[in-house]
Amino acid sequence: MTIIMLGAPGTGKGTVAGILSEKLQIPQVSTGDIFRKHIKEKTELGIIADQYISKGQLVPDDLTIDIVKERLKENDVQKGIILDGFPRTVKQAESLDNILAEENKKVDMVINLITPEEEIIERIVNRRVCSNQECKAVYNIVLNPPKKEGVCDKCGHELVQRKDDNVETVKSRLKSYFEITSPLVEYYEKKGNLYSTTVSKSINKLGKDVAIEIVEKIKKEKN
Ligand code: ADP
Ligand code: ZN
Repeated sequence: MTIIMLGAPGTGKGTVAGILSEKLQIPQVSTGDIFRKHIKEKTELGIIADQYISKGQLVPDDLTIDIVKERLKENDVQKGIILDGFPRTVKQAESLDNILAEENKKVDMVINLITPEEEIIERIVNRRVCSNQECKAVYNIVLNPPKKEGVCDKCGHELVQRKDDNVETVKSRLKSYFEITSPLVEYYEKKGNLYSTTVSKSINKLGKDVAIEIVEKIKKEKN
């Protein structure tokens, strides 16, 4: 099963994908995480990607598509994958369709998360992530704080703020989203596998609620 997480930055793609991954036993693959790992390790790819990510711009398609293409060949994702943050352009979406078609696979479900813009900015600025690559738990210091400040509840590692989680970068990330990524909503809507849902504190619905809703939906469809 191939599931895609779509939505502006800070809508909770990572949170929802993480819970779905656990419940459905399907690996979560985040292109943002892959880039951050390369940046940390100062690989050639990391050095290039950092130039875009630090400005809140998208990494070029060719680079991004190559990475995902390689990742899709690995053993652990043969039965299913939750793609978190990919595709982000129509070109990426078309390439993904082609890559999957070669293996007689397709995109089964696209989860589109919608959050009011002012809430997005607030969330991104308050976001803290676990520094443990194996854990990657996400917290919000206002809405969903850890029990002990600066420490991950799940694994005890230090919580950090992503370098690109600041007001200036967020604005350009939102701009990229609305100009370049949001046409994918229509792209998948036409294919008939889009599931849009709102994540917002104003309706008391957070990432974990949405994840439960989706697991229920998938279970129902299987029966
Ligand atoms: P968020 O959804 O909060 O922006 P991500 O971790 O998904 O966070 O992405 C962080 C950054 O990595 C993006 O702002 C972008 O620069 C880059 N990136 C991630 N995925 C892609 C992609 N599919 N195409 C191009 N750039 C990407
Ligand atoms: Zn942790």
